[in-house]
Amino acid sequence: MDNRTILIVEDEKPISDILKFNLEKEGFETIQAFDGEEGLKGALSNHIDLILLDVMLPKMDGFLVCKEIRKVKQVPIIMVTAREEEIDKVLGLELGADDYITKPYSVRELLARIKANLRRTSSENEVQKNSEDTDIIRLGRIVINCERYEVTKDNQPIDLTRREFELLKFLAEKPEKIFSRETLLEKVWGFEYYGDVRTVDVTVRRLREKIEDNSSEPDYIITKRGIGYYFKY
Ligand code: CA
Repeated sequence: MDNRTILIVEDEKPISDILKFNLEKEGFETIQAFDGEEGLKGALSNHIDLILLDVMLPKMDGFLVCKEIRKVKQVPIIMVTAREEEIDKVLGLELGADDYITKPYSVRELLARIKANLRRTSSENEVQKNSEDTDIIRLGRIVINCERYEVTKDNQPIDLTRREFELLKFLAEKPEKIFSRETLLEKVWGFEYYGDVRTVDVTVRRLREKIEDNSSEPDYIITKRGIGYYFKY
């Protein structure tokens, strides 16, 4: 298996160099970009397996870079934030980032996040390669095509981000089973101990806006108060 390549988009050269050093020590290839424009160019032109994207960048901020990448690519993106209000923005905006990490972070924590995000993509690829039959979950009006990452409701396609898709698929595979937010975070995001359960709530809210007839009275993704969420069928 060839080495995975990580694009480091970080304007502070000493930080970028430390990241490069640590990632290469772990066997990753790295490419450095020092401003938003360069980062976007690198993301679109090179074969990249994962992007570490700082929020505060010259020329083009990380939010915009993330949005632009998402228009054309589903590569995992970990946003690197420095302040609490940036986290809220990452969670609240429809950026399509897969994960975020807050400065200061330990190298160990960062590596755990990178590996979790890469694991997810490689198992997706395997599923795609190995499945001979199209893997389709049909739940009434909602149909999830796991092979093509497509969701339809009443035969109309619904545009979901990768994370929204994964959350829906995870819940829909076991209808009526209640999952805690912590379990969802671990299974869908793979954060293990590092994540923030608010991420789950925000993604559920967005998912509801897309798949429910009325997102304030959901028919599909139901809240079990004090416990978590389940897919009703
Ligand atoms: Ca910065």
